[in-house]
Amino acid sequence: MSMENGIIIKSLSGFYDVETAEGTVRCEARGRFRHLGIKPVVGDMVALEATEPGCGVINAVLPRKNVFARPAVANVDQIVFVVSEVLPVTDTTVLDRMIAMAEKAGVEPVICVNKCDVADGERLRDIYTRAGFTVYAVSAATGDGVEALKRCLAGRISAFAGDTGVGKSSLLNRLLTDAALKTGAVSEKLGRGRHTTRHVELYHIDGGGLAADTPGFASFDEESFQPEAEEVERLFREFAPYLGACRFVGCAHTKEQGCAVLAAVEAGAIPASRHKSYVQLYQEAKSRNSWEKKNRKKV
Ligand code: GDP
Ligand code: ZN
Repeated sequence: MSMENGIIIKSLSGFYDVETAEGTVRCEARGRFRHLGIKPVVGDMVALEATEPGCGVINAVLPRKNVFARPAVANVDQIVFVVSEVLPVTDTTVLDRMIAMAEKAGVEPVICVNKCDVADGERLRDIYTRAGFTVYAVSAATGDGVEALKRCLAGRISAFAGDTGVGKSSLLNRLLTDAALKTGAVSEKLGRGRHTTRHVELYHIDGGGLAADTPGFASFDEESFQPEAEEVERLFREFAPYLGACRFVGCAHTKEQGCAVLAAVEAGAIPASRHKSYVQLYQEAKSRNSWEKKNRKKV
């Protein structure tokens, strides 16, 4: 039987819908995946063997760029953080933690300020532009800015994250292809109810690219995000030019004399809110590390 490669776009109770050059093939995975401890997930590139028209088996999962546990998705190129300055107003501390998590995972964070028809989003746009991210200002309500966002999604796998009520579903409804909308499934799947299911799916963006919608900030693999205190500085990209320029080696950049990072905050080159988030993550990591050390000594 013929062999081909494809990408898993949907996973549901042991079956996988794999998109290939010849169309979508519904597949089962070979039993040996379990032995190898590899469970195919949405976003995986796989080698499959067709068994009958439209059906097949997955023989191999090709090497992954990255993989997340919740939601179970692989090969994510970017996470689009949908934020807003009107209710629900985005908490930058929570957002910065998620951005740091994305940085650690090697996934590009993209900031999308929604509801710009109500508030221009200037504060968030300024913070994240200064911090070195690509920022889009959109309105899912009017469609303003959506075309520019589409261009950034073309040819990539993107995940969407953001607080409930920030407008992810509204935005996705504008971004997804007509075909996806016509199935009538989208509004239902993107509705509140779906978060209770284990259903994960990649949707086609109009203009190219695939998107996975994800639940609120809190559940995007946060428990597994436990950086070492020393590594936190590298998860804030705008700190990079100043690292190594502090007076003391091993400077924590919290309140030290001669700290180049603090000087940059003072000068406005690093947004103050970003530094505040850094200090919080650093201190958390520090207390976690010392707690771990104490408990290791006891054993
Ligand atoms: P989700 O929970 O992130 O999926 O958010 P929804 O897409 O369900 O949107 C939450 C509410 O915000 C709904 O009442 C939307 O109509 C509204 N909303 C979404 N985007 C916009 C926008 O760009 N402007 C305005 N004014 N309202 C919006
Ligand atoms: Zn410093």
